[in-house]
Amino acid sequence: MEEHSTRSTGSIGGTAFVGPTRPSAVFPAGRVCQEKGCGTRLSIYNDGDYCYLHEPLVAPRVRGKKIA
Ligand SMILES: [Zn+2]
Repeated sequence: MEEHSTRSTGSIGGTAFVGPTRPSAVFPAGRVCQEKGCGTRLSIYNDGDYCYLHEPLVAPRVRGKKIA
């Protein structure tokens, strides 16, 4: 009865390979633009509710410019 107790074979595979890439916050996939009749799929990186076309951009006010 030769029983080499070689049970400690080193359990590899327990550690997931985590590169330098951090788990960035992404948003639920499958969302669509909230604009009526648009239905454009939003990117998981898009934190808004609208596609890039209907995204309510805040237009920079250029009024009040001093002319003189
Ligand atoms: Zn849209």
